[in-house]
Amino acid sequence: MEKHKLVIIGSGPAGFTAAIYAARANLSPLLYEGFFSGAAGGQLMMTTEVENFPGFPEGISGPKLMEACKKQAERFGTQVIKEDVQAVDLSKHPFRVEGTKLKVLTDSLIIATGATAKRLDIEGTRDGEFWQKGVTACAVCDGAMPIFRDRELFVIGGGDTAVEEALFLTKYGRQVYIVHRRDQLRASKVMAEHAFKNPKIKILWNHVLKRVEGKDVVTSVTLQNVQTQKETKHVAAGVFFAIGHNPNTSFIQNQLKTDEMGYLIVKPYSTCTDIEGVFAAGDVQDKVYRQAISAAGSGCMAALDAERYLTKLKIDA
Ligand SMILES: Cc1cc2nc3c(=O)[nH]c(=O)nc-3n(C[C@H](O)[C@H](O)[C@H](O)COP(=O)(O)OP(=O)(O)OC[C@H]3O[C@@H](n4cnc5c(N)ncnc54)[C@H](O)[C@@H]3O)c2cc1C
Repeated sequence: MEKHKLVIIGSGPAGFTAAIYAARANLSPLLYEGFFSGAAGGQLMMTTEVENFPGFPEGISGPKLMEACKKQAERFGTQVIKEDVQAVDLSKHPFRVEGTKLKVLTDSLIIATGATAKRLDIEGTRDGEFWQKGVTACAVCDGAMPIFRDRELFVIGGGDTAVEEALFLTKYGRQVYIVHRRDQLRASKVMAEHAFKNPKIKILWNHVLKRVEGKDVVTSVTLQNVQTQKETKHVAAGVFFAIGHNPNTSFIQNQLKTDEMGYLIVKPYSTCTDIEGVFAAGDVQDKVYRQAISAAGSGCMAALDAERYLTKLKIDA
């Protein structure tokens, strides 16, 4: 079985940044970019315009940015494999990585498999309907888009994330509604107080989203009161799912420490997991920032951590 110095799993901003740094350090990384596990290129492949990644004053489309990252990683010698990783064996060194076809051993491993935003399967919100045409799962990423400015925006959820997203959206929207199926928020008391005090936020208790309607973009939503079953239609420009994320870690099969939500745990100020030689970068270990630039930053850290680890093992770069 072929053996590598470094294998990277994931082809989002974290994985490709790790690959650029590692390849420039002569580690000849092998990168599994994923296939069925999510779009190769990561979450930014699902978005049109990225306006907050430094270096692109006019913005850049998500797919273009990721294509450029891939080219940059390959230019320095990263080998990109179009496969999912189905399993890893971290019980002994070198670690074993099993792709759909290619199975390899590696001295070090960077896990950069991201997280998938949870969405509800509701009429009008699906791919090919109004997903990314007013329906999104990231207020920080998309909230500033012109289609949402001074309009009615609906946040679906009732936890801290929902309140945070709603507060963020008050900068742009005319009125922000939190649609929550219960009669009290799950958010912390402090966060809930912020929402109650903000005149731009209105909470629609005991309501669920039934349908999203529009033409080219979202123009209205239909909500249902879960107590009376009554449906009401509201003018809307945006629907923001804020019901959490699933970190993509199933292939790890509990071999690494995670928090209660499944995010990989790394040691403070590093990307080191609880197994020496295994590093985690990007959204798979970050439930706080979840941005392309923060993912890229931790990808850089992971490559530097891996390089130091290999130097300690006296494995030449
Ligand atoms: C619709 C949308 C719009 C966004 N817009 C912005 C924005 O404008 N600005 C911004 O900064 N952030 C934005 N974000 C957030 C940003 O995309 C993420 O924070 C960032 O992509 C995280 O990078 P990552 O590398 O950690 O993971 P991801 O981008 O999620 O990439 C993970 C990669 O791992 C691969 N993978 C998963 N499992 C496996 C496996 N078993 N084997 C092999 N590969 C696997 C996937 O195929 C994918 O390539 C947006 C997110 C979404 C969903």
